[in-house]
Amino acid sequence: MRHALLDSPFHVPRATDASAMTMTAAMPTPDTHTVLGACPHDCPDTCGLVTTVQDGVAIKLQGNPAHRHTGGVLCTKVSRYLERNAHPERLTQPLRRVGRKGEGRFEPVSWDEALDHIAARLKTIAADEPQAILPYSYAGTMGLVQGESMDRRFFHKLGASLLDRTICSTAGGEALGYTLGGKVGMRIEHFAESKLILIWGSNAIASNLHFWRHAQAAKRAGARLVCIDPRRTETADKCDEHIALLPGTDGALALALMHELIVHDWLDHDYIARHTLGWEQLRERALQWPPARAAAVCGVPAAQIEALARDYGTTKPAAIRLNYGMQRVRGGGNAARAVACLPALVGAWRHRAGGLLLSASGQFPADRATLHRPDLLAGRQPRTLNMSSIGDVLTGGATVLAGGPAVKAVVVYNSNPVAVAPESAKVAAGFAREDLFTVVLEQFQTDTADYADYLLPATTQLEHWDIHFSYGHTDVMLNRPAVAPRGQARSNAWVFRELARRMGFTEPCFADDDETLCRQAFRPEAIDWAALERDGFATLPLPEAPFAEGGFPTPSGKCEFFSARLAAQGLDGLPDHLPNYEPAGSSAVYPLAMISPPARNFLNSTFVNVTSLRSMEGEPLVEIHADDAAARGIADGAMVRVFNARGEHRCRAEVSRRARPGVVNGLGIWWRKLGVDGTNVNELTSQRLTDLGRGPTFYDCLVQVEAVAA
Ligand code: SF4
Repeated sequence: MRHALLDSPFHVPRATDASAMTMTAAMPTPDTHTVLGACPHDCPDTCGLVTTVQDGVAIKLQGNPAHRHTGGVLCTKVSRYLERNAHPERLTQPLRRVGRKGEGRFEPVSWDEALDHIAARLKTIAADEPQAILPYSYAGTMGLVQGESMDRRFFHKLGASLLDRTICSTAGGEALGYTLGGKVGMRIEHFAESKLILIWGSNAIASNLHFWRHAQAAKRAGARLVCIDPRRTETADKCDEHIALLPGTDGALALALMHELIVHDWLDHDYIARHTLGWEQLRERALQWPPARAAAVCGVPAAQIEALARDYGTTKPAAIRLNYGMQRVRGGGNAARAVACLPALVGAWRHRAGGLLLSASGQFPADRATLHRPDLLAGRQPRTLNMSSIGDVLTGGATVLAGGPAVKAVVVYNSNPVAVAPESAKVAAGFAREDLFTVVLEQFQTDTADYADYLLPATTQLEHWDIHFSYGHTDVMLNRPAVAPRGQARSNAWVFRELARRMGFTEPCFADDDETLCRQAFRPEAIDWAALERDGFATLPLPEAPFAEGGFPTPSGKCEFFSARLAAQGLDGLPDHLPNYEPAGSSAVYPLAMISPPARNFLNSTFVNVTSLRSMEGEPLVEIHADDAAARGIADGAMVRVFNARGEHRCRAEVSRRARPGVVNGLGIWWRKLGVDGTNVNELTSQRLTDLGRGPTFYDCLVQVEAVAA
C-alpha cells in the first residue's frame, strides 16, 4: 500500500538522472521509485538525497547526482542514514515517564492521552505565567518546516519565553553582520579557481566534505592550501601547510597579517578607499601587532606568520574558508571580524574566486515572518533566555532568568541539551528538577530524552516534508517524504498543530499542513518553484563576485573595519584580540587547553547511537601530544581522567600528532550514557559567553589530564 503523502500532487516520484535511471532499470518492479530530498543535518553542505523505495521500504539512499553541490556523494555519516532510520531503538510510540527523572523509564500512552495531558499542563502554567514555558530547539534538523514554523507560531501565541539560539554560530554571525553586513560571501564553487585558500578553523574533510572537493580542484590547478587550526586534522594533513595556533588566538594572527600587509604595502589602496570604512583606525590598530607579538600569543613562529602574510598579500585570487570552530572562545566575535577584514585590504573581493565564506545563509530570501508569525505575540514582549546558559537557566537565580519567573516547563525538539550544552552537570541537574515539566520530541532516547515527562516519537527526514536553505551553498532544497512514518512517529509540525488545537488556538495559520508550510517558506517570486519541484533544488540568482564593486549590505554600503553600531553599544568599534577567559598556559593547576571538535563519524550528538559509526569511533578519547603524555606518565590507550573545577570526564588517551603541545582534543559529542562513566567533554566546558552574539565558549577551557586505572 502506498503512503498517503506520496499521493500528494506535490510528490513526483521520478528518476532524476542517468544513474538513477540505471538504478531504477536494474530493479524494474512496479513499486520501485525514487524520491528526492535534502540532508537535514547541521552541516554546510545541505546535500540533495535520492531515496530508492521498494514496496514502501527505503532500500537505498544516495547523493543526488544532478545537484552539483552534492555531485552524487554523501558523507560516511549520512551514507548510514538507512541504518539509522531502521534502527531497532527508534521511538515508535508516545511514552510517559514512570521512573525518576533521568532514569529513562517510560510506559506507552496513546497520542491523544499524551497530547491532552501536555496541553492541559501547558494551559495551567500559561494561565499563571506563560513565560514560565521555554521552547528549546536547534539544528537537529535544519529544515524550515520541522525546525521553525508551527513550533514558533505555537510558542508566540502562548506568550512563552523566547529562546536565544546561540549554541553554534552567533559570535561569527554577528561579526560578519557588523563587518560585511550579513552572512554573505563567496560562492562555494568558486574556491576551485582560487590560487591560495586559507582553511581557517575548519576540518573540511570531516565537516564540509563538498567544499573539500573544490579545494582539491584548486590544488590540482596549482593553488596552495593552508590550514589554520590548533588540531592537526585530516584536512591539515592534506594541506600544503598547517599553522597550529593556540585556541582563541585567531584574532592576534589576523591582526599580525594586517601588520605585514601594511608594512610591505601588499594593499589594494583603491579598493580600500572606495569600499571600506575605518581604514585609518584599523591601520593604527594593526600596526600594534608585529608578527613577533602575535607569535608569542599564538604559539607559532613569527616567520610562519610573515610567510603567510606574504602569500596572502601577493597571491591572487586568495580565498578564506572560515568556519565556526574559531569563534567558540571569549573573543570569537572579534576574531571573526578581524579575519573578515582581510579580503578588503588586498582587494580579494574583486575576483569571484577571492574573498571569504563563513556562511551563505544570509543570502536566502526565507519568509520567516510568515513561518514564525511573531504577530501572534499581540504586543507582548516575552523575555529571551539564552540556550547556551541552559544549565544556569534551569538551576539559577534572577540574573539569568532576565527578571522573569523560574522555568516550569521546557519543550525540547531538534536538540539534545543534556549532551551538547556546556557545563553539562548543571544542565543535567536542571533537567532533573522534579517540578520541571519536560516534553521531548525525539527519534531516539537520547540523554535529554531520559529526563522527559513525555517523550514523543519524531519522524526522520525520510518520513516528512521540509524545505531547506544552506549555509554552505546557495540552493534552496526541497525534501519530500519517501516512506511512511515508522510506527506512530509524527512530524514536529504535526505535534504543534495538534497541541494548538487542544489549546483552543483558532487562527487559520494553525491549520496549515506541512506541505503548505513548505510553500510558505519562500515567497513564490523569490525562488524558481518549478525547478524546485522538478529537480529538488533551486539555485538563487546571485552575482558571481558579490562585492567586486563594493555594495556590502552594511549601513554604509562598505566593508566596515570600524563599526559605529558596535561603538554605539559601548563596544570597541575595531576588531581586536581578546584573550581567552582561560588562556593556554595561564594556570598551574589546569595547564592544558582543551578543544572539543566533532569526532569524524558523529555530527554534534547525532549518529552516536548508530552502531556502525560508533564502532568506527571506538570510545570517547582525548588526543594528547607525546610530550604532554610523557610528562604525566600517560601511555597511548591509557584510561585517563580529564578534569577541572567544573567536573571530570573519563576517556581513553590517544597519544597523537593531531594534538599540539599544551592543547588536548576531546572529540565530541558522545552521548553521556554511551561514554565510560556517564559523562562527556561538556562536563568540562563553561557557560561563559562570547564577546559578540552571546555564544558558548566551548574551546576556551583549561583542564588537567591524569592516568587512572582502567
Ligand atoms: S551531513 Fe553534510 S556532507 Fe553529510 S550528507 Fe548531510 S549535508 Fe552532505
